[in-house]
Amino acid sequence: MAYTVPKLKDFSQAALDKAVDQAESALKDESAEIRSEADWKAFRDRWMARKNGVLTQINDLWLKSAPKEGKRAVGQRVNELKQFVEQEVSKAREFVDGAATALRAGSEQIDITLPGIRRRLGAEHQVIKTMNEIVSVFRNLGYSVEEGPEIDTDYYNFEALNFPPNHPARDTQDTLFVAGQESKPLRDRLLLRTHTSPVQIRTMEKMKPPVRVVCPGKVHRNDAPDATHSPIFHQIEGLAVDTNITLCDLKGTLDHAMKALFGSEVKTRFFPSFFPFTEPSADVSISCIFCGGKGYRDGSRCPNCKASGWIELLGCGMVDPNVYGFVDYDPKKVSGFAFGMGVERIAILKYGVDDIQLFFQGDVRFLEQFG
Ligand SMILES: [Zn+2]
Repeated sequence: MAYTVPKLKDFSQAALDKAVDQAESALKDESAEIRSEADWKAFRDRWMARKNGVLTQINDLWLKSAPKEGKRAVGQRVNELKQFVEQEVSKAREFVDGAATALRAGSEQIDITLPGIRRRLGAEHQVIKTMNEIVSVFRNLGYSVEEGPEIDTDYYNFEALNFPPNHPARDTQDTLFVAGQESKPLRDRLLLRTHTSPVQIRTMEKMKPPVRVVCPGKVHRNDAPDATHSPIFHQIEGLAVDTNITLCDLKGTLDHAMKALFGSEVKTRFFPSFFPFTEPSADVSISCIFCGGKGYRDGSRCPNCKASGWIELLGCGMVDPNVYGFVDYDPKKVSGFAFGMGVERIAILKYGVDDIQLFFQGDVRFLEQFG
C-alpha cells in the first residue's frame, strides 16, 4: 500500500513521533525500489513537488492544523523531516548515477586483468577413436585406407556385390533410396549406402592384385533408433586379394586383430553364415571380455554374453568368385577374403556403454567421461 499522509488529531509528542516514523519508513521503502532515472524523478516529485507532494501535504495536514501552542514543536519536526526527505532524494540520485556509470564502464572498457574466455580443448569422439584404433591395427598389417561416396548407386551397393535385382538378401538391408530416380535403370539409381562394401568394388576397379585395404565410413539404414539400432552408424570393412589367399589367412588375420583390440587373452570362433558377396561366409564371435568367456560373473549369469561366454562381433568370408567377374579379376588366378564390422558395436564393448544413441546425442556430460 502506498503511503498516504494521515490527518493528525493528537499532537502529543508520542503521536508526532509515530507519524514521523511512518513517513520516514515509507520514504526508505520507496527509495529502495528505485532502479532508473525515471523511477527517481517520480520519487522526487512524489515527495517534494510543491503542489500536492507528500511534504506539502504534511505541511497542510500537520503544521497548519496544529493547535497554536503546539505549532512550534510540530514545525520543528516537519522541518527535520523535510531535511531527511531531501537527503534521501539526493542519495537516491547518486545511486542512479552510479549504476549508470557502472553500466557504461561495463560496455565500454576492457579490463585486461580479467581472465579470458576459456576455449576448452575438444577430444576425439569415442566412435572416431575406436575407428582409428581398428584402422591402425590393420595398417600395422600392411593394409591401406580407402574411402568412397556415402551416396552410391544400386550397382555398387548391391549388384556388383552379387545381390541381383529382386534377390531376397536385399531385403535384409532396409535401404534409404534417393527420391525421384524411377526413370533411371535400377543399377544407376542413387541410394544411401547400406554398408561400406561398395568401396571394395571401387577399389578393385582401380587396383590390380595384390589388394589389402580397409574401408572405414558412415552407412545408413532405414532403422528406427533404439538402444541397439541407429539409422546412421559406422563400419569398417577389409579386403585382401592376392594369389593363394586361404581361409586360414582370414582366420589368422581376424584372430590377430581381435587380440590387438581386446587383449591377447581373447579367443575367436567362426560360424557358418551367409553374405551374397562371400563364399563361404562366417560370423565371428570373440570370447566374452566381461566374464573371460566363462558365461558367469560374480556367481551369476553374465548379462553381456547372456551366459554363453561369446559375443558375436563381425562377418567375413572368402570373396565370392562371382564378384571378381564385375571387376575384371581372374577368379582362377586370385583369391581373397573380406570382413566387416560395426564400429559402434565395438565402441559399446570397449567403453561399456549400453545405448548406441548416446554416441549421437552429443551430450557433453556423456562424452567427457571418456576424456
Ligand atoms: Zn560374458
